[in-house]
Amino acid sequence: MTENKTELLIATKNAGKIKELKELLIGLPIQTRCLNAFPNITEPEETGANFAENAVLKAKYYALQTKLRALADDSGLEVQALNGAPGVFSARYAGENATAEEKIEKILQELNNIKDRRARFVCTMAIAGKTGEIKFVAHGICDGTIALNASGANGFGYDPIFIPDGFSNTLGELSDQIKRKISHRAQATEKIIQHLRRFYAAST
Ligand code: IMP
Repeated sequence: MTENKTELLIATKNAGKIKELKELLIGLPIQTRCLNAFPNITEPEETGANFAENAVLKAKYYALQTKLRALADDSGLEVQALNGAPGVFSARYAGENATAEEKIEKILQELNNIKDRRARFVCTMAIAGKTGEIKFVAHGICDGTIALNASGANGFGYDPIFIPDGFSNTLGELSDQIKRKISHRAQATEKIIQHLRRFYAAST
C-alpha cells in the first residue's frame, strides 16, 4: 500500500462534522487530512438540486484541487409539512449569515399550529479519487419529528429541535455517543467505512 492511499481529505470546514467523522473513522488505516491545510482553496458553489449532486460536485472539486482522495458530504433537514424544506438550503435557510438559532426560529415559526411535525435528516457522502473520478456514494437517513421548542446544547445546527424516532429528547439533549450511533451521518459513514475496508483489503 502506498502512502497516498492512506490519506483521505475530509472535505468540509464544519467543525461539528469533522469531529463526528474523525471519531467514526477511528480504527481504519487512514490518515485524515483537513481543509485547514489548504487555506488557498476556495469553496465551490453548491449548485446541486439535491444532496447527492452537491456531495459529488464537492468531492470531485476538492480531489482535483488537492490531488488527494477526497470525502465530501452534503446534508440537511427535510420537513414534511414544508414540502422537504429547508433541504439543500439547510445551511442558509434564514439567510447567508444567519445563526443556528435564527434558522431554528424560522422553522418553529413556519410549523406554528401545524400538527404534522415529521422530518428527517439526510446525508449523502461521496468519495472521489485523486483525479476526480467518483468512487463511491452513500446515503443515510435519520427520521424524527420537530419539537415544539428548542432544547439542549449538544451537537450543532438543527439538533436542538430534532427528536429522533424512538427517543423523547432532541438531539441537542442526547449525548454525542447516541448521536454517533443513530445519525444520518453515522449511517452514511458506516457504508463509507465498509467501502473503505473493501478498498484497503483489496489494495494490500
Ligand atoms: P452542508 O454543510 O451544506 O451539508 O449544510 C448542512 C446544514 O444542515 C448544516 O449547516 C446544518 O444546519 C444542517 N445539518 C446537517 N447535519 C446536521 C446535524 O447532524 N445536526 C443538525 N443540523 C444538521
